[in-house]
Amino acid sequence: MTQTLSRSAQILRELIRCPSVTPHEGGALGYLEKELTALGFHVERMTFSDENTPDVENLYARIGDSAPHIMFAGHTDVVPIGNAGDWSSEAFSGDVKDGVMLGRGAVDMKGGIACFLSAVEAHLSSNELKGSISFLITGDEEGPSINGTDKLLKWAAEKGETWDACIVGEPSNPKQIGDVIKNGRRGSLSGRVTVKGVQGHAAYPHLSDNPVRGMADLLNALLETPFDEGTEMFQPTNLEVTSVDVGNQATNVIAAKATAIFNIRFNDLWTGDAVKQEINRRFQEGAKRDIIRKGKDTAVNFEIEWIGRVSPVFLTKDDTLIGTLSEAIKQVTGKTPELSTGGGTSDARFIKDYCPVVEFGLVGQTMHQVDERTPLSDVDKLTAVYEKFLQNYF
Ligand SMILES: [Zn+2]
Repeated sequence: MTQTLSRSAQILRELIRCPSVTPHEGGALGYLEKELTALGFHVERMTFSDENTPDVENLYARIGDSAPHIMFAGHTDVVPIGNAGDWSSEAFSGDVKDGVMLGRGAVDMKGGIACFLSAVEAHLSSNELKGSISFLITGDEEGPSINGTDKLLKWAAEKGETWDACIVGEPSNPKQIGDVIKNGRRGSLSGRVTVKGVQGHAAYPHLSDNPVRGMADLLNALLETPFDEGTEMFQPTNLEVTSVDVGNQATNVIAAKATAIFNIRFNDLWTGDAVKQEINRRFQEGAKRDIIRKGKDTAVNFEIEWIGRVSPVFLTKDDTLIGTLSEAIKQVTGKTPELSTGGGTSDARFIKDYCPVVEFGLVGQTMHQVDERTPLSDVDKLTAVYEKFLQNYF
């Protein structure tokens, strides 16, 4: 049985057929350039480079030259398919079975791009555009995210681009289209703590200083007390120690040092600096426990090293953006979406410095999995939501 595909499903299939595993463009941006140019967009493609990371292609396209200016942001790159034999049909085929389209990127997030493009097409064919629409599409979201959205925004802002609102088409919905608009994220910070001891014979502990004991005190002090109870819009802050390492193979040797790495996801009660201070305070307190317990005269000797940048917490409160999108969702699906700040980071963390941003896309259940897929009914529903949003926004 052959099924007639809607316009958005056709676009999605074309995109899935481009094998754009980060950092490869795979033809996906070329395809979008062709479609957007045909619609009257001014399309620019740029490749960004940096040290120790592959070059990545990106795309920025705009139609209209007046306000309000709505940006749609997303990525055409996808994660690898894993073992090809585990897929029930070819991962870059876009095959449809029982009304479901299968393929890497179907929901994360070629689906969101296909739906928004198709919604814009429909909007432009029956309305005169009363503002501007742009697409900011990167090929570096699933990779290091160094040569993507961050640089693309700086590049566009430098040539004078400003935006009034942005929708990121990441798969925000847990079960059904209309469940959740994501309007913020907790902050994130990673660090490494090293405890220095003195190597020695396990039978002669007085001649050495075991860093594992000090590490245990430090980690206990770090983890004992919750950072907070959560806030109105955010989950509680949580810190996870993700690895503890001594690297010692011998049972009778006390090692010279121990290290641990950790990641903290913090809510709007904290800034990156405040989190660093609190972690440091907890380690200082833990480092003194051995003095109190055993009358030792020195505290545990430790060092903290922060890994990567702080990703700050953000919350979008813009009533026009959230109100217009919620209303469109309600009109199409009958559901009132919940606002959520849950989940991991996305490129919205960069966009929030330029304009109000929310995430709304397909249902995320199969993202990054074997047999990533979306029902075609979801694709059509999301397209209808985006189209309604454009109508109500302008
Ligand atoms: Zn994604």
